[in-house]
Amino acid sequence: MRIKRGDIVEVISGDDAGQRGEVQRVIRGKRPLSRSKAKKLGRSAVRDPNLDRVVVAGVNIIKKHQRRTGDIRTQVGIIEREAPIHISNVMLVCPHCDQPTRVRMRVFEDGSKARECKKCGQLIDS
Ligand SMILES: [Zn+2]
Repeated sequence: MRIKRGDIVEVISGDDAGQRGEVQRVIRGKRPLSRSKAKKLGRSAVRDPNLDRVVVAGVNIIKKHQRRTGDIRTQVGIIEREAPIHISNVMLVCPHCDQPTRVRMRVFEDGSKARECKKCGQLIDS
């Protein structure tokens, strides 16, 4: 995954284009299988990177009508919360050059990998 929880991202398309926020959750995409395929493979969904989504703080706010549930901690009424957006609609903001950038994977001699900013060439995680 090129984006992780805790990253700062910038939205590049849609109503919230230009907004920045911290990634609160990364949702790995799953594609449901047809019933016959599901039976054959023994599971109901397969991993699909095209469906990866992220929840970004303060971005893509929706009003949700929350019904009363058994849990008394649940807030009831209309609550505002972030809805997931597709991962292709955001770009990682490099902590070094402060620009929205694409990510390159740098592979070290010991086989470990780290994300690198394509604009300034510095490592994102360090
Ligand atoms: Zn950079």
